[in-house]
Amino acid sequence: MKTNRFLSIVFLAIFCTGALYYHFRQSQSNDINLENKALTDIFTGPEKVHPKLGSPPRYDIYQTRPDNPEVLAAVAFNTYDITPRIKGYAGPVKLLVAISTDGTIKDVRVLKHSETPSYVFTLDEFMAQFKGKNIADSFQLGKDIDGITRATMTSEAVARSVDKGAKAIGRQILELDVGGPSGDRPKTLSYIHIIVPLMLFIVAVGGVLGRNTFLRGLALLTGFVYLGLIKSTMVSVVQLVNIGMLKFPDFVTNPLWYCLVVMTLLSSVILGMVYCGSICPFAGVQEVLFHLGRKLKWEELKFSHKVAGQARYVKFGILFVVLAASFIIGNSSAANVEVFLILFAAHASQAGWAFVVFILTLSVFHFRFWCKFLCPIGAFNGLLADKSIYKIQFGPECGGCGVCDKVCPVGAIQMVDDKPLIDYPECTLCNKCVEKCPKEILFLTRNRQQGLTKHD
Ligand code: SF4
Ligand code: SF4
Repeated sequence: MKTNRFLSIVFLAIFCTGALYYHFRQSQSNDINLENKALTDIFTGPEKVHPKLGSPPRYDIYQTRPDNPEVLAAVAFNTYDITPRIKGYAGPVKLLVAISTDGTIKDVRVLKHSETPSYVFTLDEFMAQFKGKNIADSFQLGKDIDGITRATMTSEAVARSVDKGAKAIGRQILELDVGGPSGDRPKTLSYIHIIVPLMLFIVAVGGVLGRNTFLRGLALLTGFVYLGLIKSTMVSVVQLVNIGMLKFPDFVTNPLWYCLVVMTLLSSVILGMVYCGSICPFAGVQEVLFHLGRKLKWEELKFSHKVAGQARYVKFGILFVVLAASFIIGNSSAANVEVFLILFAAHASQAGWAFVVFILTLSVFHFRFWCKFLCPIGAFNGLLADKSIYKIQFGPECGGCGVCDKVCPVGAIQMVDDKPLIDYPECTLCNKCVEKCPKEILFLTRNRQQGLTKHD
């Protein structure tokens, strides 16, 4: 459809311009300003902060007394200068660490991070645990430091970078005995987080190609348990923004991020909405709620094709606004509108929870209300699906009975001139139309066979 092409162009324009704008702004600024602000917040007395210098790069902070020459009181450093390879879930977490000359950690402040805001809302509380510890201490997560619930990777990255950086400064600059090398354990690739998402996509694709509702259900359940409950990791606008900002996590510590992004993109451009149709944890939640509503015989909330067709533009609007806002403000906090991030992070303000309850309630009365009208990442997946190599198409024998239009749960089919017109960005590949077509002439196919109607 021409409108989908127009939406793709708008998306590309916003994404490319936004990313360029962000990188231009980044090239004009550096961490020095943030470091200076943190230093001013920490050292509020008469101390004198010397400019950043040396190797490892650091700030020396001197006590100034009228009767004494300057005496070194503390040293502060940006963890990124010492441990640039340690990354959180979505990239480096830059911290300013201030250490007194006796090795006591005076303060740890966050300078910059790219983590999902809903998951790291207690970052400041988490940082407070480091205050007063000695750099020779152990910083083992779960033992010496309590991690942030549902943000283990970020917590680990912070603990490791403070530990490694502080011990390096203690040894090389303050000449303190900080014990042996820091307890930084060698990172090992977690194969389970490659195998499980791979299996998940294989099962989901198997469900689509084999028209198998059991496999589809299994994929949705696994997506809910593994991605939603266990890993709290979903495909979201946060990943899109981070890709535009060129912020990537470490593959060894976070292979799931790469598997999820790569497989979603690949499956979308080859088959269509595999992720949205059979994997997204929030999709499963909405479908269960909708079926519950039908079991309870509550009246379904129905929209005409015209109303639904216009309402679907809302999600594209949200996608464009969230993208533009993220690139302008320089982080992905605008993506907090994504309801599943709130739900699976299990953290929100009262307004946030009210929003979750509102969406879940609407899901009881209208099939996938969030996906159809509001989900920004669903809108993005839809734009890819619109160009997918394989598509559901119908053969020349179509008599225009309209059964496919009636059975499509997301209203992706409309009869136009007695022929079904499929809106591919809305099609969740559930195969209901394929199964119910009385003439069995709907196929998931690549080549437009002779007689197949051109939809787009
Ligand atoms: S549209 Fe959004 S909520 Fe729905 S399945 Fe896709 S990503 Fe999940
Ligand atoms: S019934 Fe609708 S959503 Fe399901 S495969 Fe057909 S067009 Fe797609």
